[in-house]
Amino acid sequence: AKLTNEDVRKLAKELGVKFVRLQFTDIFGVLKNVAITVEQLEKALAGELMFDGSSIEGFVRIEESDMYLRPDPSTFAVFPWRPMDGAVARLICDIYNSDGTPFLGDPRNVLRRAIKEAEEMGYSMNAGPELEFFLFHLDNEGRPTTVTQDKAGYFDLAPVDLGENARRDMVLIMEDMGFEIEASHHEVAPGQHEIDFKYSDALSTADKIVTFKFIVRTTAQRHGLHASFMPKPVFGIAGSGMHMNQSLTRNGENAFYDPSSSDGLSEVCLYYVGGVLKHAGAITAVANQSVNSYKRLVSGYEAPVYVAWSAQNRSPLIRIPAKRGSSTRLELRSPDPACNPYLALAVSLKAGLDGIKNKITPPAPCNRNIYEMTPGERAALGIGSLPENLYQALQELEKDTVIREALGEHVFNRYMEAKRIEWDRYRIQVHPWELEEYLTKF
Ligand code: ADP
Ligand code: MG
Ligand code: MG
Ligand code: MG
Ligand code: MG
Repeated sequence: AKLTNEDVRKLAKELGVKFVRLQFTDIFGVLKNVAITVEQLEKALAGELMFDGSSIEGFVRIEESDMYLRPDPSTFAVFPWRPMDGAVARLICDIYNSDGTPFLGDPRNVLRRAIKEAEEMGYSMNAGPELEFFLFHLDNEGRPTTVTQDKAGYFDLAPVDLGENARRDMVLIMEDMGFEIEASHHEVAPGQHEIDFKYSDALSTADKIVTFKFIVRTTAQRHGLHASFMPKPVFGIAGSGMHMNQSLTRNGENAFYDPSSSDGLSEVCLYYVGGVLKHAGAITAVANQSVNSYKRLVSGYEAPVYVAWSAQNRSPLIRIPAKRGSSTRLELRSPDPACNPYLALAVSLKAGLDGIKNKITPPAPCNRNIYEMTPGERAALGIGSLPENLYQALQELEKDTVIREALGEHVFNRYMEAKRIEWDRYRIQVHPWELEEYLTKF
């Protein structure tokens, strides 16, 4: 059962909690928090704690800046790495306007709205991410580098894997905080790791992703390492993704499963796939929000480039893993761990629901290696490409009314504005590659 305010009061007392961190994210998914002492807990639970919304990226202008934090009691958890004497707990919050209405620019609210729409159609979403990240060394001044002494690869074991101890601590802390860890392993690239936790409803999964990143960063720091969720920190080796496994249930049953169909997939599943493929361009603007994200979405590193789906191979945007029954799901392979998980889940869900509502049939699954096809073969099969850079992705987002509606006008406008500035800042730079290529050539 979900924790209530009453449970939070009791637990805080029992566990000797002294500090409570009230957390939320800005529109780019950056975690923010205010620490209060336990004496303020009553006021916090009543939703009476105020903050200045104009200081948070993408929130509001200075004239309308008083906003309220309303803690979600079900997210109460104690930080196990902090002293147990005078313990530190956190609560993830929803954001409210001063007139008592929910703030539509709150990413958690964006996801809540998509979830509500699914519920009105009789569905709930389950989601399970696979987060990848790098562990890098610090230099002599303690600054992060992209250096790793680690030479290990996929599924390798210690002692080659230097991050092993750090990763073990991360897993233990996550378990302490209520994650059910399914697997953790070394990834393909040197210094790269993956930890998978069990799927849950979309809102708790988004909360967990934010918490996951916080735990990984903090734990790495205690091990003298720097953890990075940057999508492509090093040229020439694999980048970090966050495959998003997703499914719908209806009356508690997996709605993507149909034992009577030849491939075990329901019509609902196919339409959901159709919707996600149709809106793939605009989804990318949200699931891959940085300039750097697009350096991961290139061929040769198991990251998707083409808009297609398959039950068999790992090159397309959507893979349907072989498991059926309650594990029937689709795996969206484009998101990277630098995205805002609330927004990424909201836009995927909204795209899937659009597919169901409008019975969008996907093209035939593509079971060949798409990278080996000629452009002509791809065109004949109706296989398009994902946006090649942030600019193209933003253009797609601007055109896509369904995905815009999922974000809501507030988030859409702030997001576009900020991302266009980000793109322009990048565009006018002279990058090291250019100097190397042109300085002596011309
Ligand atoms: P891969 O084979 O792509 O490496 P993993 O085993 O690493 O996949 O991760 C699978 C993820 O999918 C896990 O987070 C798991 O909990 C999640 N998952 C399993 N069943 C479902 C489901 N029905 N709906 C959503 N996610 C699911
Ligand atoms: Mg995996
Ligand atoms: Mg796996
Ligand atoms: Mg992986
Ligand atoms: Mg995967």
